Amino acid sequence: MGTGHQLRLYNSLGRRLEDFVPSASVTGVYSCGPTVYGFPHLGNMRAYVFADTLRRALRWKGIDVRHVINITDVGHAVADTDTGEDKLEVAAARERRSVDDIAAFYTGAFMNDVEALNILPAHEYPRASAFVGQMIEFAAKLEAGGFTYRLPSGLYVDTSKSPGYGALAQIDVEGQREAAGVEQAEGRRRKTDFALWRAEQPGQRRVMRWDSPWGPGAPGWHLECSVMSIALLGPHFDIHTGGVDHRELHHVNEIAQSEAYLGDGKPWVRYWLHNEFLQLGDEKMAKSAGGAPRLADITDAGYHPMAYRLFLLGGHYRSQLRFSTAGLDAAQATLRRLASRIQLRPLPPAETLTAAVSHAGGDTAAARMLDQIDEAIASDLATPRILAVLQDALRDPALSLNGRRAVIAAADSLLGLGLAALQPRQVDSRPAASGLSPEQLHVIERLIAERSQARNARDWARADEIRDELDRLSVIVTDTPNGSIWELR
Ligand SMILES: [Zn+2]
Repeated sequence: MGTGHQLRLYNSLGRRLEDFVPSASVTGVYSCGPTVYGFPHLGNMRAYVFADTLRRALRWKGIDVRHVINITDVGHAVADTDTGEDKLEVAAARERRSVDDIAAFYTGAFMNDVEALNILPAHEYPRASAFVGQMIEFAAKLEAGGFTYRLPSGLYVDTSKSPGYGALAQIDVEGQREAAGVEQAEGRRRKTDFALWRAEQPGQRRVMRWDSPWGPGAPGWHLECSVMSIALLGPHFDIHTGGVDHRELHHVNEIAQSEAYLGDGKPWVRYWLHNEFLQLGDEKMAKSAGGAPRLADITDAGYHPMAYRLFLLGGHYRSQLRFSTAGLDAAQATLRRLASRIQLRPLPPAETLTAAVSHAGGDTAAARMLDQIDEAIASDLATPRILAVLQDALRDPALSLNGRRAVIAAADSLLGLGLAALQPRQVDSRPAASGLSPEQLHVIERLIAERSQARNARDWARADEIRDELDRLSVIVTDTPNGSIWELR
């Protein structure tokens, strides 16, 4: 099958699917990282599982990647305003700890979640506070180029000088600031203008402060990502990722200042990829909402971290996902089923399409499944379809032993569930929150499996009979492209 299907990604710049063609021998990928003033919650981590899926897809296609995720330890103001207090300083005051302690502690918490979710480590995790000198130089160059103006509150980008301002957001720039709920600094000329430097106010003394040509103060949040990405990936790179909440403002501002800084008339970054939110109830999960569950909350309740990863990958990254205990229960049950059926270890290394095909030998059924996997990942990272192929591979009698191993290993290298090492006993059959006994869970699982078999055999009468039986047990079954999921009524 040669190099397989052309990788296509949905580019927010233009809002369309595009062929991804690397512009250099190493593809630069920058992902906006956490502001380390509190624990990351489950919704925050979706962005990094998504970026990891992208990494795995590029690896699958034999594309070398250099991945940078920044750590924002200064500059991110409360409520994303330009003039508000710094989130880190507020957290330090609240917890009666130093800003350095806060940053170190919550960076550690983020890295723990990255590891637990089997996210490939980035090549660099730059801290914003280590790049303030370069941020000042960057801002000074914009000032020298006439792209800025000064106010008592700091140095601002004059967005009227940026010809394509707001193209990424595709919305009326006049409406943009209101939409984002951004508070206006006194004297700002346009609603879209934003701070490069936030100067200390008379009588104010920031904990984190640097001297600058615009007085002592701290950099603006948007500036950080431009400076760190250019410093570590070069002036132009291929892919920038982040949550969809960054598409309307943060990334718009990154583009405006970077293109003004570079001044070469070329688009700064070619592909902008955004993941959708995780919804908790009716609220999007944002850290400021408070009380959103963390990975540690669900692992304490008996869920395996990979059950959460599986839950995420059961949806497409550009679809909103609703977080629920029932959804997590179903993912845990699927994970356990996968772990118990994969008794074919060791799995061969199959991180690339080429390697997977060579491990499949001449097995034509396996080759067909590998082609389905390749087509799915190439179609804007369609992970639900890969999960479906994985489940087929576990029961298709046409596969040879080596063929089956190759397909499982290939799916796992893209999904990152760590199936090669996962033992069924590591996946609790009764997470605390589900309230079911192991016996009850076993009965439900067995009925679900029998119903799937009946459906595969097109025995609709039997499938309906089993559904009625499940109904009596208060189990609601929903059929999805990647198998049946169930929840308790
Ligand atoms: Zn950013």
